Amino acid sequence: MKSDPNLSPTTTPYNIRLNNEQPKPTTKYKTTKSWNPFVGCGFDCTYCKPSFGALLKWVGGMQHCPRCQQYLPHEHPERLSRIPSDKAIFVCEDGDISFAKLDYMAKVFQAISDPKFAGRTWFVQSKNPKCLEQYLGLIPRNTYLVTTLETNRDQGYGEISKAPLPSARFKDFSHLDWKKKIVTVEPVMDFDLEVLRDWIVSISPAAVFIGYNSKPDKVSIPEPDKMKLLCLIDELEKRGIRVLTKEMRDCKFVKKAYRDFIE
Ligand code: SF4
Repeated sequence: MKSDPNLSPTTTPYNIRLNNEQPKPTTKYKTTKSWNPFVGCGFDCTYCKPSFGALLKWVGGMQHCPRCQQYLPHEHPERLSRIPSDKAIFVCEDGDISFAKLDYMAKVFQAISDPKFAGRTWFVQSKNPKCLEQYLGLIPRNTYLVTTLETNRDQGYGEISKAPLPSARFKDFSHLDWKKKIVTVEPVMDFDLEVLRDWIVSISPAAVFIGYNSKPDKVSIPEPDKMKLLCLIDELEKRGIRVLTKEMRDCKFVKKAYRDFIE
């Protein structure tokens, strides 16, 4: 593997990762579902179109919703009362709620705040974590707030996505007064090891989900090599951060799969 000047000299990922332990499939936990009373996003991430966008096009076609097919931000109020019975639910996963109206999201959070759902785990994610601030008084405590930090590098990021730059996202997510946070480093883009590590450690998330772009044949993004990614995982774990992996392209490096967070 290539050497990288960003690697810490004390990092020895092979010590912990080279084993024959096979991971569980990197799928969601079987009782984890999406619930999408709001759908759509305008951040246009290049890596979203071949995965999420394609899926939504298909689902939108099945449900005869042209706005779902085009991934335009829109509401599905008829879903407000149809919350799946699963124990862990990604709320509005098919989009980004920073494009939703405040009064509509108030109804969404009111729906999941029903005491009968107290035993559930909710996940609410945005690539614009600043928008979560206005909802903190409405979101039930059994909710993990999630944001993506695929990289720490702002330079060139505008060619990948219209979402707030990684440094702004980090700052806004850090400032959120909320105990349960998760960071996703997915799809991982090339990063500066010590900077990204320190950002994540300072957020002190309950977990970090890490994975490569799952559609490298369809979209290309600047990526770290495997050794650098393993160093990041190692550095985070050494500091007590729980890391769960998704697409790693080489299973023997993986110990904990994404879905293990719920188990
Ligand atoms: S922010 Fe999320 S939902 Fe929006 S385009 Fe990017 S990956 Fe897709």
